[in-house]
Amino acid sequence: MKRKAKDDAKNKEVQHIDASHPSFRRIDTSLYFDKSHIQLPIIFRDEYNIKLGGLEKFHPFDSNKWGNIIEVLKKKELIDSDLIIKPKEAKDEDLMIVHTKSYLQSLKWSMKVAQITEVAPAALLPNCLLQKKVLKPFRYQTGGSILGGKLAMEHNWAINIGGGFHHCSANNGGGFCAYADISLAIRFALDFFENLRKVMIIDLDAHQGNGHERDFMNIKNVYILDVYNRNIYPMDNLAKKAIKRKVEISPFTEDEEYLKKVELHVEGALNEFEPQLVVYNAGTDVLKGDPLGLLNVSAKGIIKRDEIVWTKVRDRNIPILMLTSGGYLRCTAAIIADSIANLHYKNIITLKGMRNGN
Ligand SMILES: [Zn+2]
Repeated sequence: MKRKAKDDAKNKEVQHIDASHPSFRRIDTSLYFDKSHIQLPIIFRDEYNIKLGGLEKFHPFDSNKWGNIIEVLKKKELIDSDLIIKPKEAKDEDLMIVHTKSYLQSLKWSMKVAQITEVAPAALLPNCLLQKKVLKPFRYQTGGSILGGKLAMEHNWAINIGGGFHHCSANNGGGFCAYADISLAIRFALDFFENLRKVMIIDLDAHQGNGHERDFMNIKNVYILDVYNRNIYPMDNLAKKAIKRKVEISPFTEDEEYLKKVELHVEGALNEFEPQLVVYNAGTDVLKGDPLGLLNVSAKGIIKRDEIVWTKVRDRNIPILMLTSGGYLRCTAAIIADSIANLHYKNIITLKGMRNGN
């Protein structure tokens, strides 16, 4: 289902998104560009990784996770550097499609950045250092998610190796999420693609995706399916009102029950809403042993989960954008790479070999 992008997006009538938002404007951004014919819709650049002179070790997060996913895929000989698309950095003017100016302004306080990233010592660092070493990588990843929405619409699928900051909304960050890349990717896509009216978020990170939920609270074009551990952060009751299909699962749920619920509700949601684009937030913090997700899903279970989602979406010929989101153990990079490889081996996507067209 390839859609023709409107050439003159600036002049388009937009009634289907929240145009009353104070910072709303029509799409005019360098974040959207075309990929070359040899490139895959796999989005990454080295700047995604966070290097803060060792301070990042205070957080259980693997700050090289994104680069490590690419390294594993390269070792499997499924991608080369020249096949990957390097996104641009989301600038304030792009971010303000969703974010308020006061929120972006608040990121100029190191204390705020420390609170969002949950790295307490960061509060003591000069803000310019945090901007460069922490927020900039997030802005590149956000640029990647926004570009991913366009590439998914044009090429049927796209994978941003980063992004998935689902706790951040227009005016608040938290839980390691500084920019609302999911809301941004969807708003950009709704504005740019003339016929796009129905977008679904399938959020399978272990945590509730309260950021995009707050942003799309009364927006009927966006359907949210969220499967999460009921007993962990953020337990945001207001945001829950935006979820069309809420699947709260118990701590330490294992593969069989988890996959059964994912299959049932992904199928049900797709039948109910019939979206024209799916944004799949594929957090891997459901993995057994994850100190924050507190679920008991195996690596094999995660790979199967991704296969279920991709198969159901692609069987219906719906474009899909996958974001890697949370996943806090060092082994998760290899699991994500294995899962992407599995999609290739099952002929759901084509990695190497796409050189002659898809
Ligand atoms: Zn999470």
